[in-house]
Amino acid sequence: MRTASVIVDLPTRQTNQPFTYLIPDDLLDFNLLGHRVRVPFGKRNLMGYVVAVGQSERSDFQLKKIESIIDEKPVLNSEMLKLSEWLSNYVFSYRVQVIQTILPNAFKPKYLKGLKIVDQVPEKIKENIFLNNQEIEFLPKNYTSEQIKVINSLIRQGKIVQTTTIQKKNKGKKVKVLSNNLNDNDIATNLNKKSLSDSQKKLLIFLSGHRDGFFQVKELAEILDISKSTILTAEKKSWLKKSEVRMTRNPVKKIAVTKTNAVELNSDQKKVFNSVESAITKNENKTFLLEGITGSGKTEVYLQLIEKTIAQGKTALLLVPEIALTPQMIRLVKSRFLDSVALLHSGLSDGERLDQWEEIRDGKIKIVIGTRSAVFSPLTNIGLIIMDEEHETNYKQEDNPRYHARDIALWRAKYHQAVTLLGSATPSLESRARAQKGIFKLLTMNHRAVSGAKLPDVSIVDMREVWQKEHADNDFSPTLLKKIEERKENHEQTILLLNRRGFSSFVMCRNCGYVPRCPNCNLSLTLHMGSHSLKCHYCGYEEAIPKKCPVCGSPQIRYVGTGTEKIETKLNSLVNGIRVARLDQDTTKRKGSLEKILRDFGKGNYDVLLGTQMVAKGLDFPDVTLVGVINADIGLNLPDFRSGEKTFQLLTQVAGRSGRAGKTGEVIIQTFNPDNYAIKLAADQNYEGFYKTEMSIRHIADYSPYYYTIQVGIDGPDQFPASRAIDEVAEFIKPKLAKETIVLGPTPKAIAKLRNRYYFQIILKYKKDPNIESTLSELQTVFGEKLPKDIYLSIDRDPVSFI
Ligand code: ADP
Ligand code: ZN
Ligand code: ZN
Repeated sequence: MRTASVIVDLPTRQTNQPFTYLIPDDLLDFNLLGHRVRVPFGKRNLMGYVVAVGQSERSDFQLKKIESIIDEKPVLNSEMLKLSEWLSNYVFSYRVQVIQTILPNAFKPKYLKGLKIVDQVPEKIKENIFLNNQEIEFLPKNYTSEQIKVINSLIRQGKIVQTTTIQKKNKGKKVKVLSNNLNDNDIATNLNKKSLSDSQKKLLIFLSGHRDGFFQVKELAEILDISKSTILTAEKKSWLKKSEVRMTRNPVKKIAVTKTNAVELNSDQKKVFNSVESAITKNENKTFLLEGITGSGKTEVYLQLIEKTIAQGKTALLLVPEIALTPQMIRLVKSRFLDSVALLHSGLSDGERLDQWEEIRDGKIKIVIGTRSAVFSPLTNIGLIIMDEEHETNYKQEDNPRYHARDIALWRAKYHQAVTLLGSATPSLESRARAQKGIFKLLTMNHRAVSGAKLPDVSIVDMREVWQKEHADNDFSPTLLKKIEERKENHEQTILLLNRRGFSSFVMCRNCGYVPRCPNCNLSLTLHMGSHSLKCHYCGYEEAIPKKCPVCGSPQIRYVGTGTEKIETKLNSLVNGIRVARLDQDTTKRKGSLEKILRDFGKGNYDVLLGTQMVAKGLDFPDVTLVGVINADIGLNLPDFRSGEKTFQLLTQVAGRSGRAGKTGEVIIQTFNPDNYAIKLAADQNYEGFYKTEMSIRHIADYSPYYYTIQVGIDGPDQFPASRAIDEVAEFIKPKLAKETIVLGPTPKAIAKLRNRYYFQIILKYKKDPNIESTLSELQTVFGEKLPKDIYLSIDRDPVSFI
């Protein structure tokens, strides 16, 4: 008997294993591996993925049969089947969740609930509920409670049953097209008719010249300059034949570019290129870490390596941290490689994503550029995987499955005997440490690529002194303000960074110190001048700005800290006629608005680009000669061992936006902690110095990369049961772990309450612990299964944030 092992679409402990099904006769000739199938499971019908096929001699019990297949082609190839198995163990996630993460959203099944008559039912029921059908779709909300009662009683009597059908979502967009339905004779006859209008004549002549081909109504009307109704009449007369074709939605096609060619590499770039190229040619499974200062021309190296890779008949994957912030990157790739490029990121519609995915799967694509989840794109024969800005935390998924794209990239490169190139001006400490140990090969580029361009001059302004002299609410030091004015006079541009990681502008009573907080999350509410309200940035809770302090009644309740809106207003009042473009969550909510702001800034329509973290990354504007950091400190004191690293990365990245095209750049960093090592070393643009200092700190405190970390979390709607559960987690795992493994906690998380849930954590630190994986997977299964329904357990390997 031929059988198939199927992972069913039910993420629970008991179902986290393949189930064996019989392959029905009509599918015996079919290779089912990697297919989506419909299978009976208990009382229902589920979708499943075939992860293995085989034989079974067992006849002692009745195997159920696969009902049908869903798609013509498999959705998982053998690489993805192996990857999903490895990954689900690695990140402690159910295999079906991993599979659904690997696949585009459009493959998520849609279940339709239904009712079916299987025995005699009263005529009235047949008429009113079943509308004289044998089977209907059933949505309880469409029925009265009386009707539901009747239905339930008939179900109990076994006269009707509940059914589920699995629907295929998103079959691709179909469009109506018309084609020629006349032969030469018909056309001649019609052309001779006296009653013919000019438009009809045009159409017939067009048809005589277009035997084949499909045209949309609108398209034909435009080509021939005739009305749509003429065309529809012709369709009625059967001059034209109607049909439907599948339209491929392609986000790359929309980007208009002119073809560019490779530029001559400088000597730094050449060295890097040669090392990586040689590994690609030899099919070596090697990982390179490219540490190249901002503006050193990493992108050109990437492009030329991709070109080499596809010239050798292989494919290439280019990962970027965030598409919206790297429009220039997509443009560059597309203009070099035109239509062999596919684009995958979360801003696409499900349909666009599916179509891009299918083109890749069908081998029509040589190069994929995309964000985190593009690391799963079904390229075969991969020769090169590039991960730009490899230190970015966007590469880690914060929800289940909590994977890091770098881990997947390395796994896939090994599978394909391919090369991985990790690039950054400020590599993560983990990657840089691996390069130190020789696991990755370190390559460096220390000069800016554009001839004459140097790293900008950076100076630190001590805001403590400024505040002592000036009015105590000043965000702009006189130094920074003067330089912004100078740039405006010289028709040069400024980028201003307002660091807002963590807690931002809030309201405080100057009399008693009261701060309004979110009733759900207990975080201070952020002030929004636009809507005159206080908002919680985590759960969206909103209330009016109080006029008087609710505790002491004082009218001295005012805002503290700084938001982009406030800085914008202030700058407008301080510098006459200054044109400020603001880039933050509020101004970029609408689709396309971010691109527009960046385009307008690039055209010189603004003097200043003011924004949060968004302005720090990837932007390459030649007229920007000043970068100002309004508050470098926010984030330094967060309860996270990476706060120094994150501050250093942010400051270095944003400083790198200045003086990229030959004009000397300048950077002003305003800070209350001018002696902090991360700020000082960022001002010196000294990554290697930072790496050494930070490594010694991590060494003393036993943190990554010296130790691996895993965060085990519990959250629940009530404080006490959740805190009891985390204590039980600790009791459960502690005796099973190696003696050397360090267990921190249990403690409440840094944000202990969020959206009405309480969060607790345990942090495990270890170098080598042979028991850790088995212990945690046992925790997840044995222990996790006993938890009350509303309490969740989470396991996060190598967490990138502890807040
Ligand atoms: P990075 O990504 O390392 O910060 P980019 O790739 O953005 O740097 O390159 C910075 C600038 O240098 C770009 O404007 C790019 O066109 C230019 N550039 C890159 N390579 C060369 C080269 N070999 N010759 C001249 N200009 C170059
Ligand atoms: Zn008060
Ligand atoms: Zn809230």
